[in-house]
Amino acid sequence: MSNESLANLMTEERRFAPPAELAAAANVTADAYASAEEDRLGFWAEQARRLSWETEPTETLDWSNPPFAKWFADGTLNVAYNCVDRHVEAGNGDRVAIHFEGEPGDSRSLTYADLQREVSKAANALTELGVETGDRVAIYMPMIPETVIAMLACARIGAPHSVVFGGFSADALATRIQDADARVVITSDGGYRRGKPSGLKPAVDEALTRPGTENVRNVVVVRRTGQDTAWTEGRDLWWHDVVDRQPAEHTPQAFGAEHPLFILYTSGTTGKPKGILHTTGGYLTQASYTHHAVFDLKPESDVYWCTADVGWVTGHSYIVYGPLSNGATSVLYEGTPDTPHQGRWWEVVQKYGVTLLYTAPTAIRTCMKWGDDIPARFDLSSLRLLGSVGEPINPEAWIWYRQNIGGGNVPVVDTWWQTETGAIMISPLPGVTAAKPGSAQVPLPGISATVVDDEAKEVPDGGGGYLVLTEPWPSMLRTIWGDDQRFLDTYWSRFEGKYFAGDGAKKDADGDIWLLGRVDDVMLVSGHNISTTEVESALVAHPKVAEAAVVGASDPQTTQAICAFVILRGSAAEDEGLVEELRAHVGKQLGPIAKPKRILPVAELPKTRSGKIMRRLLRDVAENRELGDVTTLTDSSVMQLIQKKLPGAS
Ligand code: ATP
Ligand code: MG
Repeated sequence: MSNESLANLMTEERRFAPPAELAAAANVTADAYASAEEDRLGFWAEQARRLSWETEPTETLDWSNPPFAKWFADGTLNVAYNCVDRHVEAGNGDRVAIHFEGEPGDSRSLTYADLQREVSKAANALTELGVETGDRVAIYMPMIPETVIAMLACARIGAPHSVVFGGFSADALATRIQDADARVVITSDGGYRRGKPSGLKPAVDEALTRPGTENVRNVVVVRRTGQDTAWTEGRDLWWHDVVDRQPAEHTPQAFGAEHPLFILYTSGTTGKPKGILHTTGGYLTQASYTHHAVFDLKPESDVYWCTADVGWVTGHSYIVYGPLSNGATSVLYEGTPDTPHQGRWWEVVQKYGVTLLYTAPTAIRTCMKWGDDIPARFDLSSLRLLGSVGEPINPEAWIWYRQNIGGGNVPVVDTWWQTETGAIMISPLPGVTAAKPGSAQVPLPGISATVVDDEAKEVPDGGGGYLVLTEPWPSMLRTIWGDDQRFLDTYWSRFEGKYFAGDGAKKDADGDIWLLGRVDDVMLVSGHNISTTEVESALVAHPKVAEAAVVGASDPQTTQAICAFVILRGSAAEDEGLVEELRAHVGKQLGPIAKPKRILPVAELPKTRSGKIMRRLLRDVAENRELGDVTTLTDSSVMQLIQKKLPGAS
């Protein structure tokens, strides 16, 4: 961003107070802000006591060598014990930990006692295979219970895991195995995707032919689909052969709070993936606290479902570590939302009586496009709270979500955080905050975030600029695996002493924070910085638009010109009149400066595997350039379709 701070174009006046009943029984009340304000470190020390420590920490934060933080450094604990055994010891062994729903409709439920046995066996198996404390294990799996079991087994023996999204190619897997120098890979023959088995093991075989992967001694393979699977004798082992025969007891060993728990590579929306390193005590403290606070989890009665893939950070913190450390009952769903029909998710909500649902704006907008009548066919009355993560949620999508999924009376929490932050940082508290559609609003208790300008000066209310985090937090990344310099350069060099998140943001008149998309995506039009998010939200607010992606294309007159790609709703006709109507609509909502110069109706938008719009590819199209790296796209044919539609493009 340059010239001037981010223009503040959108106004959103709708407000939704917390439901009285929820507020009266909320896990966290307004006092939490006050107590954290008064004594931030004391507040986190108190939250750390949510966990069972083998040795209680006496020290909270060591910030003597910033930005390399140590939290609770003299404490010791075992993460798997915290997520599994202690619930069994507390008499909750019969509580369901995971309701697994396979895409073909098979299902199984694992109690905490089941999970304890399975994790213990898997930990014994890894030890038998020679995996030692500190060794890295790569996990390349579909969404099945063994994935969670494998992660917990690694945590149990202190072997950091590196989960690689099952949709990634052999190349992506190979670079991640090389970078982490993994010793064992856990995978499956395949998983079910869009109604058919899709192989995973072949990608592992291919990845392991690449130089730099020689240290992988064994590949442990879960049988999921039963498809034919090539086998390397001596290296490959069936999970059921090595795990099932192990003793069901395993004594967890306590590790130091700063022992590495996992490496997770960011999705690569912006460049070469970074191996984000998270450690034990601080990470689990914040994952556990935020899950308790933001989702208001009541472990005895709630059924919680996070639709993310375990391969993303959301899956790590809010499918595995947060919910299990809190003794929650969760749903784990293997497949896609439209297999075998577009109501599949709502069928799952109805079947298990899901009370808390956590999903992404991209999924919400897709459901909007499919139509209101689909969720209306299911009983969604069990839902009492809805969450959103991954991108800014457009106010219209927020309202649709609350109305059509939440029955118009549940809180919606828009949660801002990143792989790097490890856990939720900015979010309404469901029993406290009067919610504003489209805004993540307030830093959680114990978190310090603000918006600054180019000179690192905090912007006043009403101003826009860069989101920064001004104090260390327990679940912060500790470094980029093997690359401290890149850690410093990427996050800590832009503004002295502050963490640079890479996202644009503004503060409204109340001081609430609105996320405005990545800094790289902000447009410069005739001297004004304009957020892609705001123009997209204005477009989505038009009844004929289902989804929109906006980019700035270089322009001789205005530096950049706003170029919008829109997906129309079912029956809307694509003609000259419509384009004019949409331009006028944006002009009216945001002002004439934000009127797109070009609007192009398209059938699909390019998205990453985690569902985020890849604006840099649309910019390449709009500027008639060769496309950049498309390897993290879900479907690269989308780009060809879009290019064909562009007048003058080849
Ligand atoms: P990479 O860093 O490799 O480009 P990525 O940033 O997409 O990938 P994640 O860590 O999964 O990988 O995503 C974090 C980013 O997602 C945030 O920096 C922000 O841009 C966006 N984001 C997440 N939640 C929200 C939210 N509630 N509101 C606005 N933006 C969000
Ligand atoms: Mg990022």
